[in-house]
Amino acid sequence: MISNKSTTTQNCPMCGSSEIVVEFVKQDGPRLWSLARCSRCGLHFTDPRPDPEYLKGCYSGDYHEDLRMAGGTETAFGAKYRRYADWLTPQLAPGSRVLDIGCATGGLVKMLCDRGFLAEGLELNKDSAAWGSNHYGITIQNKTLEECDFAPGSFAAVTLTDVLEHTLNPRDYLTNVGTLLASKGLVLVTFPDIHSLESRYYQLMAKLTRRPWLWRTLHIPLHIWEFTKSTANACFEAAGFEIIAFRRSQVPDNEKTSPFLRMICLPSAVIAWPVLSSLLGTQMEFLIRKRQ
Ligand SMILES: [Zn+2]
Repeated sequence: MISNKSTTTQNCPMCGSSEIVVEFVKQDGPRLWSLARCSRCGLHFTDPRPDPEYLKGCYSGDYHEDLRMAGGTETAFGAKYRRYADWLTPQLAPGSRVLDIGCATGGLVKMLCDRGFLAEGLELNKDSAAWGSNHYGITIQNKTLEECDFAPGSFAAVTLTDVLEHTLNPRDYLTNVGTLLASKGLVLVTFPDIHSLESRYYQLMAKLTRRPWLWRTLHIPLHIWEFTKSTANACFEAAGFEIIAFRRSQVPDNEKTSPFLRMICLPSAVIAWPVLSSLLGTQMEFLIRKRQ
């Protein structure tokens, strides 16, 4: 279902503006969720805001199930985690303490430990946290950041790979992360670009065919905020960080699909070519540094 209605239930969570446009409406089970955009600051967000209990249910049960088997995490995320570890390693002193928030089964934590860092993880899915702790012999706490009692300045770096856009308020969340970091501490942050070429293409296809699920890079309501590079930068600045490096990549689409869908998805397969993905890829990857 697609609607151009111009009323929403909330003001912009970033700038407070009431000038909100509904760009898209997506059905998830019995519920309708809007992708809202603030006319003043450009932020995209889910409307209405999902409540924490609803979200908790989304991350329980079989979420991450494919990762909780030998080789599963490596097949799904191994290449990506290696690139992240390669990016972070030269930035950190040997033996630095690193926290991976939303670490799933802990593949990145394990990789960073193997490189000599004191890495640990937080994961909301208790099965993934337990499986990863046992399988890799690493520390994963099944807690939210707020439930942990880390001392301020405990970490040299925090990684938030495909996590920040799931939080109820990314700016406040990142500000809290900042208190855990030592002076000039780093955060590796990744999430998709709601305005990437691929995203715009799928939005168009979804509108033309009246099949909203075709907008495959739109992840409301699980993504409470959808970012562009510009709105991401505004969020980082508001939380006391500056971008020190930025790059793009394209996450491969491994879903088994029909010939029709494969044809529709062909342009995103083209963007996955390495040269194009670094220029046009949907996935945005930031290294940001705490100002103080
Ligand atoms: Zn705004």
